Amino acid sequence: MVYICRRETFNASHKLYNPNWSKEQNEALFGVCANQNWHGHNFELVVTVKGMPDLETGMVIDYKVLSKIVRREIIEKVHYKNLNLDVDFLAGKMPSCEILIIEFWKRLAPAIQQESPRTTLHHLKLVETKNNSVEYMGEGLEHYQDLRLQEPNVVKQD
Ligand SMILES: [Zn+2]
Repeated sequence: MVYICRRETFNASHKLYNPNWSKEQNEALFGVCANQNWHGHNFELVVTVKGMPDLETGMVIDYKVLSKIVRREIIEKVHYKNLNLDVDFLAGKMPSCEILIIEFWKRLAPAIQQESPRTTLHHLKLVETKNNSVEYMGEGLEHYQDLRLQEPNVVKQD
């Protein structure tokens, strides 16, 4: 197998705040990340797919095609957005990096399989700061079909 990695970036705001808890509980656990009026990050998302190269093109997947899928499924939905309020597929969910990367996987894996049947999503890496990042390879997904904390309170974008 050959592993193909494509990096995309987006800027977004969020806060880590569980509405089922008191303000004090939230501040005790999340600290400055619970700041009521949000904070932002310059995120990086590295998407790795795997497959064997086509002998005619020499490619597993055209980088342009992979980029187009990642942009359509993720980047266009989250870039310059408030992850708590603006993104339909995150409605009511805690926008921690851990939840974000699972939700990204749920969108990307079928889209990549459909548009490029010879490739499979292998690995995601989401970088929040230069010191903090998360990685996901799809394990345990069956337990995370619905990660909602509360009723969605979101204006549909599409
Ligand atoms: Zn943050």
